[in-house]
Amino acid sequence: MDFDLSEDLVMVRDAAREFAAKEVAPGAAARDLSAEFPMAQFAAAAALGFTGVVVPESLGGAGLTNQALAVILIEINRACASTGVTLSVHNSLVCAPIVKWGSEDLKRRCLPDLAAGRKLGAYSLSEAGCGSDAAALQCAARDEGDHFVVEGTKLWVTNASHADVFVVFVRTAKLEKKHQGITALLVDRDTPGFRVSRKEDKMGIRASSTCELVFDGARVPKANVLGEIGRGFPIAMDTLDGGRIGIAAQAVGIAQASLDAAVRYAKERRQFGRPIADFQAIQFKIADMKARIEAASLMVMRAAWLKDLGRPHAAEAAQAKLLASRTGNFAAREAVQIHGGAGYLEDFPVERYMRDARITEIYEGTTEVQRLVIARHVLDAK
Ligand SMILES: Cc1cc2nc3c(=O)[nH]c(=O)nc-3n(C[C@H](O)[C@H](O)[C@H](O)COP(=O)(O)OP(=O)(O)OC[C@H]3O[C@@H](n4cnc5c(N)ncnc54)[C@H](O)[C@@H]3O)c2cc1C
Repeated sequence: MDFDLSEDLVMVRDAAREFAAKEVAPGAAARDLSAEFPMAQFAAAAALGFTGVVVPESLGGAGLTNQALAVILIEINRACASTGVTLSVHNSLVCAPIVKWGSEDLKRRCLPDLAAGRKLGAYSLSEAGCGSDAAALQCAARDEGDHFVVEGTKLWVTNASHADVFVVFVRTAKLEKKHQGITALLVDRDTPGFRVSRKEDKMGIRASSTCELVFDGARVPKANVLGEIGRGFPIAMDTLDGGRIGIAAQAVGIAQASLDAAVRYAKERRQFGRPIADFQAIQFKIADMKARIEAASLMVMRAAWLKDLGRPHAAEAAQAKLLASRTGNFAAREAVQIHGGAGYLEDFPVERYMRDARITEIYEGTTEVQRLVIARHVLDAK
């Protein structure tokens, strides 16, 4: 057993840390205020291979591991959670399923542009009546020979404002079991009859875009099916298992940023004639934050390691997301408390961390859904 990052992972982490400090952190607060999508940061990330981390080199990617992706996402989210989720969705929810489930033709058509950051990806499962109950989706696709014709509306699609390629889950057959008859389609932004509609105004990750998609007779070639027709639901779930490691990494990044800010402030701020870091009440908060961040990081890396080995990781990814997202929220809240009144102002980053942390307990499966997944694995274990 070895808890150290390998030499390669240390190099990746250091490159991501430097990139995050130079290219992502500056302007993160301003982008949060203006809700400006981090397109420039996405483009800059491409130069380091961060837009195609797990895409094989033969298809233009960096050919790295899921552990490398986790390390990169922790560092980038430490600087800006909006940029972090943009890259997490692009890598884990779009590039990864195309690598795993795409036909050779689809991989060759899509992956080089996605991996090089010339195109941005989005993942669309949720609808008005389908969130936690993902298999209840209604958006329908009619079979017309070599095409599907898609009708319906999808909601809450991260990256949609700027995305070029959308992984979309649609119903291609109404069968007795609702998780059957779902198909994963790759939809190009310029498909006639398809448009990106309303953009949501959010509490946190405000620079990330979250939009509605409208399909009005959109013709999508069958050559764009991921995996098999009617077998899309397992692809949606398998993809989310990987995505949850990314969101857990996001939460660790936010938690670490919260701790960094809290330590900085606690050493500077003086009350009763001494730095507040001298007070045990403050030290205990810092100790609890640190211990929980360490635990969450280890869980993130273990889930990524299992995925790299091709071993089952659904329960471990759910555990990592459950623990890390709670840690992100805990650490951000404690960081605000350590800042006192200053923590409530926009002058300090911790109020942004607290707003950003909130979403990690909601998207890619709520905290309650993670507990359902974990409990099912425990109770079903032989
Ligand atoms: C900013 C943002 C970005 C998003 N990005 C994407 C994206 O890119 N692609 C995409 O497809 N979706 C995306 N989503 C949707 C997101 O994944 C869903 O919001 C999430 O899965 C929860 O679904 P819901 O909002 O419908 O809540 P609901 O499912 O209605 O849940 C409401 C509450 O009930 C609880 N609950 C539901 N069922 C159970 C149960 N069986 N047992 C116990 N408690 C339960 C939930 O935990 C929650 O607390 C995004 C959402 C947001 C807010």
